[in-house]
Amino acid sequence: MSDKLRFGINATESDLRAAIVETGQITYAHGLLCASDGNISVRLPDGNILITPSGIGKGRLSTGDLLVIDPQGNIVKPADDPLLRSTTEQAMHLEVYRQRCDVRAVLHAHPPCATALTVVRSEFRMDVLPEMVALLGQIPITDLAMPSSSQTADVIREPIRHHDAVMIRQHGSLTVGKTLEEALINLERVEYIAKTILLAEMMGPVNPLPEDMLSTLRQSRLEGMVREVTVQILNEKQ
Ligand SMILES: [Zn+2]
Repeated sequence: MSDKLRFGINATESDLRAAIVETGQITYAHGLLCASDGNISVRLPDGNILITPSGIGKGRLSTGDLLVIDPQGNIVKPADDPLLRSTTEQAMHLEVYRQRCDVRAVLHAHPPCATALTVVRSEFRMDVLPEMVALLGQIPITDLAMPSSSQTADVIREPIRHHDAVMIRQHGSLTVGKTLEEALINLERVEYIAKTILLAEMMGPVNPLPEDMLSTLRQSRLEGMVREVTVQILNEKQ
């Protein structure tokens, strides 16, 4: 695989189109979405959004299938096939970019284990895997929302302000990052945690991590976030 997904600030629209196509292929190949499910977008340097169309398998996209929309959702550049429409979850993507100026990539997928967990649980258990506590902190589960409606934008609005990975109840995942690489890694982590919890619970009682370890891990995550924001501010000043 190439490094297309780790695009820098100077990436061209053409680079970003290739990155979305490759993200769709990886996500589909790893069973994190199927059929024509899921949607992917990136924020272009001019503030417009490059986004996937509805009704096409995300593992089989071509670069010309993508559309450019403005932050209000108006089409700036249609797909090569003018009949292709933007994803029906466009409102959710636009809401993420409104809430998070640091985010340049949004990935909505249907990871089977993580989604199954939201069908039976009200909380995503985060006290069993040390690295996940340090890296993600929590994975909030939103209220139920009608897919492809403005409700999905409503239910993710608050949790996505503070988390890079959110589960939409009985629907799927929403992960974000400064690049598609980060958004994809967050998606892979969410599914890994869910799968491990489900396997562990099938084998026997789950041993939670001790509280002192959990508080140390949570503290290290907070310190990491502060470091990241500091570096970002310093880079912007240069
Ligand atoms: Zn969906």
